[in-house]
Amino acid sequence: MSYHSEETLLGAATLSAKVFVFGIDTMEPRLLSEWMSDGTLPTFASLRESATWGDVINPPRRFSGASWPNFYTGFGPGRHGQYARVMFDERNYQLGGYRPDHDNVPAFWLRESWSEKQIAVINMPYAPLHEGLSGLQLVDWGVHDNHDRAIQAWPNAMLHEVLSRFGGDPVGNCEIADRSFLEFGEFRDRLIRRVRAKSEMICHYLESRQWDLFISVLDETHCVGHQTWHIFDPTHPFYDREVANTLGNPIKDVYVAIDDALASVMKFIGDNGTLVVISSHGMGPAPAGEQVFDNILRRIEGVAAIRGMGAITAVSRVLRATPDWAQKLLKPAREGFSARVTEKFLEGDRAERHYFAIPTGDLNSGVRINLAGRESQGRVHPGEHHDAVASHLIEELHQLRDGGTGKPLVARVVPSEEIDFTGYAGSTPDFIVEWAEKSPKWIESPTVGRIEPVYIRGRTGDHRMDGIFFCCGPATDPGELETPVHLEDFAPTIARMMSLPIGETDGTPIDAIL
Ligand SMILES: [Zn+2]
Ligand SMILES: [Zn+2]
Repeated sequence: MSYHSEETLLGAATLSAKVFVFGIDTMEPRLLSEWMSDGTLPTFASLRESATWGDVINPPRRFSGASWPNFYTGFGPGRHGQYARVMFDERNYQLGGYRPDHDNVPAFWLRESWSEKQIAVINMPYAPLHEGLSGLQLVDWGVHDNHDRAIQAWPNAMLHEVLSRFGGDPVGNCEIADRSFLEFGEFRDRLIRRVRAKSEMICHYLESRQWDLFISVLDETHCVGHQTWHIFDPTHPFYDREVANTLGNPIKDVYVAIDDALASVMKFIGDNGTLVVISSHGMGPAPAGEQVFDNILRRIEGVAAIRGMGAITAVSRVLRATPDWAQKLLKPAREGFSARVTEKFLEGDRAERHYFAIPTGDLNSGVRINLAGRESQGRVHPGEHHDAVASHLIEELHQLRDGGTGKPLVARVVPSEEIDFTGYAGSTPDFIVEWAEKSPKWIESPTVGRIEPVYIRGRTGDHRMDGIFFCCGPATDPGELETPVHLEDFAPTIARMMSLPIGETDGTPIDAIL
């Protein structure tokens, strides 16, 4: 196999990394495939010709935030403990964020016998800084999932170098509801600038020495997918033909920037180097049911809505129809408003209810029953009362319809006994509600009436659980793998590529690329 030939994009440059991992957070495989085929993404298209490639799958009903920890620890969530962004604490009815300031298990590159190796890790989502790595690590420079962490680097002097050479994050927090038309264009341009800055940064450090393992992750695909899905998807309730005609497709523009970045870094992989390109998981239209789920549960139980929720829907609708100059003027007000509603939701009045929503993210929602004897102020008694409440709730959830099409909104209600929550760091939901794929125009049922979709934090796109990978190296043959791989398979695979011991993992080495 000769992916290093002149016809391909890999340069004949000197070897800079024995194993180079180019991670992309949340790049949708279906879009990638379409744009590889129509010539939009020439580097990926050429890579597909010369690489072993295949699907990456993540367990269903898990939070997408578990995917990179699966990759970098080599274990599933049962061991590393990262399930959900927001978790419920049954002692006080509060929702709190999971903050991975340390890991239950360390990254695979920190295992015994790896300490002599030259290893670089740039922007691995969720991974904490490990001081003392023989190489370098940059944590959270311009990333989507920063968990309010500051930018950190090892060696510490690297931080100054990064900031003086590449500046600060040109994007900042991407999760803004009701961006104006102009703001969407600016957002897209800033994301592209960030991809370019990261690409330069990666090339700079790749060149700086001979690496045994170099891992970098780009995540602008994640931001643009969440925030601009409705701009190109004509089936989305927020789609606006005029905006689409003028702005084009910001997701495509960012994917093109990633394609360019890949072309730049591939020049630094020498003849014996192995390149692994991985998208952790994908993106699709956001299920509107998740964002208003607690309100749906309130209406089923017959308790009053969170004050402000109806108003935010109305304000959002008006804002989308106002001219740009007016949207700019209203920006501070609408951001403050949206933050207050989120705050209210997080505080909640859960102790007074029969059941409430626990956000599990992505395509699912969690329901927790306020069970007497388990919760400190439980309202539902175990046994007959519980069974009646639960079966009534499930029946009502199956009555929910997409108001536009009349199709059922809920695909399945899965009891938590069917889900492996081993090692989960919060109190688990009792049911997981799986939403049907598409975003409804509105949500309705005889009991809940009509509920307008609200895209909290502006997310019109949300996670899908399938990813994709490509691998090019001395031991690979071009072609598609029949069996999908898991993210935790890469730790033992990379260990074998580097002829290093790995010890216990939940993964299986991917023989086809070894
Ligand atoms: Zn996300
Ligand atoms: Zn983002």
